[in-house]
Amino acid sequence: MIYLDNSATTRIDDDVLEAMMPWLRDEYGNASGIYASGRRARVAIESARTAIAAAMNAHPAEIIFTSGGTESNNAILKSVCVESALAERLAVAATEHHAVLHPAETLEHQGVPLTILAVDRSGRVVPGQLQTLNVPRTLVSVMHANNETGTIQPLAEIRREIPNAYLHSDAVQTFGKIPVDVQALGVDFLSFSAHKIHGPKGIGAMFIRKGIDFKSHQQGGGQERNRRAGTEPVALIVGFAQAVRSAIEQMDERAAHMRSLITTAREIIQMEIPDVRLNTPSDAALPNILNVSFVDADRIDGEAIIQSMDIAGVAVSNGSACVSGSQQPSHVLLAMGLPASESRAAVRLSVSKYTTPEEIMQTCAILSDIVRKLRGATHN
Ligand code: PLP
Repeated sequence: MIYLDNSATTRIDDDVLEAMMPWLRDEYGNASGIYASGRRARVAIESARTAIAAAMNAHPAEIIFTSGGTESNNAILKSVCVESALAERLAVAATEHHAVLHPAETLEHQGVPLTILAVDRSGRVVPGQLQTLNVPRTLVSVMHANNETGTIQPLAEIRREIPNAYLHSDAVQTFGKIPVDVQALGVDFLSFSAHKIHGPKGIGAMFIRKGIDFKSHQQGGGQERNRRAGTEPVALIVGFAQAVRSAIEQMDERAAHMRSLITTAREIIQMEIPDVRLNTPSDAALPNILNVSFVDADRIDGEAIIQSMDIAGVAVSNGSACVSGSQQPSHVLLAMGLPASESRAAVRLSVSKYTTPEEIMQTCAILSDIVRKLRGATHN
């Protein structure tokens, strides 16, 4: 199998699994316990927190562990607007992941005015819409990079336009792949996740800037400084930190490798497949994603391409776990101005450090062949 769905999830690294094992098997003490094994678990968690904070230029006290990106996004949006009552209006980019869009819609139903920020053809938030949002008690949520197209948002510029609002960013796709520096970006809140960077599934974190009075969305015990209740999953936290350490250490090398694979895919697909549209911008995009759609999408079905690729041994998707299998047009591509037919027929190739040039060549040949067959003899 050729696995090209690394923006959905990645293979766990061996060193991550090894770091986790003792905390799954022998060291099962509760980190809140005052006995020796509980204290060892506490030390392991705090050392992981310190490593993750350092990786984004944050203070360890600003990092709160959660079950992943979805929970971090939900907790931040809902707590800022409800439990912490810091904001009374909300703005989110049209291309946000559903883990931001759906809580935003829920809050709107509960009476929080919601603005949807338009994006341009490359998926970037159109400047000039933000001025009216530069007021206190406002939360603006713009993702760092998009999971379907890889488009990177100009977050630092956005921050300069709205110094008075709270700024949240979903950095699930960027953390560990490109530099994420909370000071340089000027964000107040950030969401991130381990399983996109060869860490375990079910663990993530949120960055909450020091000085913000954040009240827990998930209530229960007093774990995580009273900001996220629930017994800490020590093994997952230790695995997350190990994945982050390697990602930071090898960032340049991995990015160069992935970027060269994506450049190759771009060139071959453009050369070999007529009437193809590349929806990933060639500048300011993640190094590991290429999103393509087909101009005659009313005649070829995106799901059929993905299924045929699966039969040929290549795992790809359209980029959004929530819509795959349901034939819905991608809200991201629609927001970028693509017609509904084309937004339904996109294919996302997402590579990792494990992907080889041979796999990319084979995938492009298979894709080209499938598209030709689906278009039939009438085309060309
Ligand atoms: N946000 C983005 C941009 C994502 O790509 C994903 C995962 O697909 C999530 C949030 C959800 O993260 P998790 O799977 O850790 O809940």
